Amino acid sequence: MAPEPDERLPLLSLDAAALEARVVALGGRPFHARIVREGVLQRGVLDYAELTSLPAALRERLAATTPILGGEEVERRTAPDGATKLLIAFAGKPGAEAARDLVETVHIPPRDPTSGKGATLCVSTQVGCPVGCPFCASGLAGLVRNLEAWEILEQFLRGRALGALSRAVVMGIGEPLLNLAALETALTVVRDDLGLGARRITVSTVGFPERLRRAARARPRFQLAISLHSPDQEQRDELVPAMAGVPVEDVLDAGDDWFEQTGREVTYEVVLLHGVNDTERHAERLAARLRGRRCTVNLIPYNPVGETPYRRPPRAAVDAFQARLAEAGVVATVRWSRGVESDAACGQLRISRT
Ligand code: SAH
Ligand code: SF4
Repeated sequence: MAPEPDERLPLLSLDAAALEARVVALGGRPFHARIVREGVLQRGVLDYAELTSLPAALRERLAATTPILGGEEVERRTAPDGATKLLIAFAGKPGAEAARDLVETVHIPPRDPTSGKGATLCVSTQVGCPVGCPFCASGLAGLVRNLEAWEILEQFLRGRALGALSRAVVMGIGEPLLNLAALETALTVVRDDLGLGARRITVSTVGFPERLRRAARARPRFQLAISLHSPDQEQRDELVPAMAGVPVEDVLDAGDDWFEQTGREVTYEVVLLHGVNDTERHAERLAARLRGRRCTVNLIPYNPVGETPYRRPPRAAVDAFQARLAEAGVVATVRWSRGVESDAACGQLRISRT
């Protein structure tokens, strides 16, 4: 049933047909809906007042009933390195404990501002996370709920307003494979209307094998990164609790399958925790698992999170780990995260307010 035009609905929750119906119900013409979509999605308009080719009365009715942004920015923090973290509040589900749900989006400008490249945006897919990795702030309180597709899309619009985007990483709060349908819906609009296609978007997941195999067959709109963290079964079970009991080899096989299905290499991510999984023996066992597979490794030195007992490894340990992998023929890059000063780096995203 079509919603009543006076029912408040966020613009981004309406597809082209639903928006057209709404615009007509509000007294506009079908082509006015196209002006709205094109203005908001392609040109980045965030205020109906700027759509001067619409009749003023329609602009007012849209503003009153169909907000372009459904959430509210409750905090903005920019780190000395230029990364900006937005804390965004969406309405909590009716009957839920919290009246509003907080997620975070991080806008990371290019290191070299003269490079002509745009920024990278890091987006969230869930409120909280059910996986519970002990080194990550996002999972401390468990899962509150999945984000809606429009709430994921809204993060892209808010991020783009801080500066043009050339890449996005789905590495904010939440486990993307547990909310894949909404993510795919949002990424379709991101590709078609915002112009960021599959090669420019990386989704990071703990890698549920069956879900990965299904996703690989559904023409995914993104590159894949799998958070592996350890070559050892027992240790991975501890570091990625929701995956406990899922054989590491099954995760790697699903990664191979991804490459076969999509033709795109997988990146394996390893958060390096000093004295836990950063020894040269770990590097050797990791190399033994990965040798011969079409993949690269991304090493992420741990970013301190107040409540956890872990430490960031010294640079020498990170270099040695990387060198061991290289000797065994496994290519690894190191990601010294940015945004650390504003608590916006990987794993530092947290529900800091309610
Ligand atoms: N849930 C997904 C995506 C979000 S986390 C996943 O886990 O892959 C994105 C990346 O940040 C993951 O590789 C995760 O392991 C890493 N990460 C989490 N906490 C971190 C921390 N404190 N320091 C460094 N990286 C961290
Ligand atoms: Fe969830 Fe990823 Fe954090 Fe683990 S690292 S708790 S999967 S967001």
